[in-house]
Amino acid sequence: MFQRVLVANRGEIALRVIRACRDLGIGVVAVYSTADKDAPYLKLADEAICIGPGPAPESYLKIPRIISAAEITGADAIHPGYGFLSENADFAEICRECDIEFIGPPHDAMRKLGNKNEARKMAKAAKVPVVPGSDGIITEDSVALKFAREAGYPILIKAAAGGGGRGMRVARDDKSLIEGLQSARQEAEAAFKDGSVYLEKYLEQPRHIEVQLLGDREGNVVHLYERDCSLQRRHQKLVEESPAPNLPVKVRDAICESAVRLAKAAGYYSAGTCEFLLDKQNNFYFIEVNARIQVEHPVSELVTGIDLVKEQIRIAAGEKLRFKQKDIVHRGSAIECRINAEDPANNFQPSPGLITTWRVPGGPGVRVDSHASVGYRVPPNYDSLVAKLLVFQPTRAEALATMRRALREFAVEGIKTTIPIHRDIFNSSSFIEGNVDTTFIERVFLNPQ
Ligand code: ADP
Repeated sequence: MFQRVLVANRGEIALRVIRACRDLGIGVVAVYSTADKDAPYLKLADEAICIGPGPAPESYLKIPRIISAAEITGADAIHPGYGFLSENADFAEICRECDIEFIGPPHDAMRKLGNKNEARKMAKAAKVPVVPGSDGIITEDSVALKFAREAGYPILIKAAAGGGGRGMRVARDDKSLIEGLQSARQEAEAAFKDGSVYLEKYLEQPRHIEVQLLGDREGNVVHLYERDCSLQRRHQKLVEESPAPNLPVKVRDAICESAVRLAKAAGYYSAGTCEFLLDKQNNFYFIEVNARIQVEHPVSELVTGIDLVKEQIRIAAGEKLRFKQKDIVHRGSAIECRINAEDPANNFQPSPGLITTWRVPGGPGVRVDSHASVGYRVPPNYDSLVAKLLVFQPTRAEALATMRRALREFAVEGIKTTIPIHRDIFNSSSFIEGNVDTTFIERVFLNPQ
């Protein structure tokens, strides 16, 4: 096992990894930018090293500073969390070249799967259904127009290197397709230094279903069942749950098996997620692999009783998976709300600042993963997630009731949060019936007809 793990991240996931290291009895080093210098979780690490100023490119994305911090503190492994460098295959490779284990997948699998176009090719080869799409990267308008004539509108333009919804455009006619190609390329070039884009048929009102995977270096891969992440705003998740409501067992099994097949074909290990869209007829289509721990991983931890971050660390240290597929039992119903420092009454504008009241819910069936507290100042520099509120109960109906109760208990002042929209969601009859898709929030709450 490692002696000391350096956590190359911030916020709730930094705290989550610190906790996993403590639970495993291993030392832990935190890093921080000057914008995070007063973050309370830094005191829970054995050491905390400043790696630069607030802007992420000068700190959390600066590879030499992170490697130096690991070397100075004698860390023998780095956990990248999510976001920042977590899916940067070069970073993973550099860590390993420096004799520091990267707690994540092998860098060659990351490199291949990190490109959505390549991942689609691998999925097809592994007989995993993909969304109908262009035959690779689009370089000529004429090829895009030809695809549009064959597949029909609407069409989704996607960045091969994309993430966080960037470089994505819906086109409903030839004109918006040609314009969208141009602007998506520019956005992707600016965000990922890779402007290549491809096309997918835009599925109308699909559900987003993803599978949590765990694999070891010996090629063993298991799934920890699915999460339904259909509740999104601008393609960003707001609520996640497991099991996916109203999903026939046969479909669920087929999706989970497809995910395992793809991970095995890619030579994947560590934790990862395979994402799919589901149409109204319950046909499922692969969209991408997230080669990292995800924000919503605790949902799967609650229903399986497996601590994914601890398992990631064990696998990185060379341990074999400690369970077979048949040992993984899905119990109960877990739901997560992402509590962001954003103002839902004002177009979800970020709402950084000083937290003056912070009363988190508790009691049976409630888990809150958060780095915030009274007196904590949410910096404007980073993503706005301030807490993950999770509930776990034997049935979905009970989980919904507990979430309503927990959202009522959750009191925050000083900053605006997404709590009010979560309260509305959990009172919505469609949501209660499990009748959701990726356009639900926009249709029902933001642009009601
Ligand atoms: P990113 O990596 O930028 O988050 P994803 O490929 O994971 O992008 O897609 C994010 C979300 O965008 C999905 O959950 C879904 O809501 C929507 N989406 C992606 N592809 C399609 C598609 N072909 N049709 C309809 N919606 C899609």
